[in-house]
Amino acid sequence: MSSSMSEPARLTLDEVHALAMEIFDAHGLSRDQATAVADTVAAAERDDCKSHGLFRVPGYMASVKSGKVTPDAVPAVRDLAPGVARVDAGNGFAPLALKVGREPLVAKARAQGIAVLALVNGYHFAALWPETEALAERGLVAFACTGYIPCVAPAGGIRPLYGTNPIAFAWPRGEGRPPMVFDQATAACARGEIMIHERDGKPIPEGWAIDPDGNPTTDPAAGLAGAQLPFGGYKGAALALMVELLAGALIGDLFSYEAGERDNGDGGPSKGGEFVLAIDPARCAGGGESADGRAAWLAHAESLFGKILEQDGARLPSDRRYAARRRTPIEGIAIPRSLHDTLMELRAG
Ligand code: NDP
Repeated sequence: MSSSMSEPARLTLDEVHALAMEIFDAHGLSRDQATAVADTVAAAERDDCKSHGLFRVPGYMASVKSGKVTPDAVPAVRDLAPGVARVDAGNGFAPLALKVGREPLVAKARAQGIAVLALVNGYHFAALWPETEALAERGLVAFACTGYIPCVAPAGGIRPLYGTNPIAFAWPRGEGRPPMVFDQATAACARGEIMIHERDGKPIPEGWAIDPDGNPTTDPAAGLAGAQLPFGGYKGAALALMVELLAGALIGDLFSYEAGERDNGDGGPSKGGEFVLAIDPARCAGGGESADGRAAWLAHAESLFGKILEQDGARLPSDRRYAARRRTPIEGIAIPRSLHDTLMELRAG
């Protein structure tokens, strides 16, 4: 392979979005579904979250080709209680369902002080910061979590049971600052990270996974065949368990192991639910609804952020993403040539 053939492909963010749209169009996604997923993929590339950018497109398309996901699903919102809305994704991808459910959730959180969006019957294959950040941009504190397929062993066990079960939390900030958001797997890493190490022929760090016999491994293939580990031992495992209960039993959707039993192994997203919580700080903080009250809770949080940032080497979660967000519109993004080739094939249908 000549060096130019092995060099990464470079794209502008507009080209990322357009390429995703062309691929989705070639696979029969409705315009609304295609736009919502392309927005999510392009946002991940914009924020340098490679494991949820264009890298995910082949998986999204595999799940359409295999007939698992309904490409033109129309999500439907139902009011379950004053503080609870349910959005049924209609067997489609999660991004459109999240988009459709956002306004009802915001309205309920503002009216009630707190509200839940129960996303059911959908396929989530993305990061969770987009949905939590969008809520914090509307002035709400947000929390979201979702299951996956069994990848992570429970504390003390060696067989996959929990998904990588991400949790995300977003806090609104004043004065035109973007929200503070953290978004992390409850596994030591997202599964996509191990897949990227396997693709690139690199060993994984110790502590990410065990092989099928339960031995620690740095071989990505052995780790994928064995089990991922929760972060922080039994403490991360407890959070993974909480995610199973919130995004599964509580909202009436599947546990990760149930999603795994039903999955057809096409490499795409698995079926499952997402639990999204929104809290209006104006209804919580003392005197929060007045201008003074708003200034007080915002300033109080900023004092904590300031204490973090005054320590050398410390940063806020999401600052890396926001730095990338300033950079990529100018510099564009780079993707491995092999992924680019795969995407070109997918664009042809
Ligand atoms: P990371 O470990 O890369 O990052 C987790 C969080 O920690 C991020 O918010 C990150 O902010 C922040 N962070 C990292 N380093 C620092 C630091 N030095 N100081 C302060 N904050 C820091 O994420 P994971 O690998 O755990 O997860 C990656 C993604 O995978 C998530 O977006 C998650 O939603 C997604 N995922 C999705 C699944 C699904 O089924 N849909 C399953 C599992 C994971 P920053 O981004 O700014 O670096």
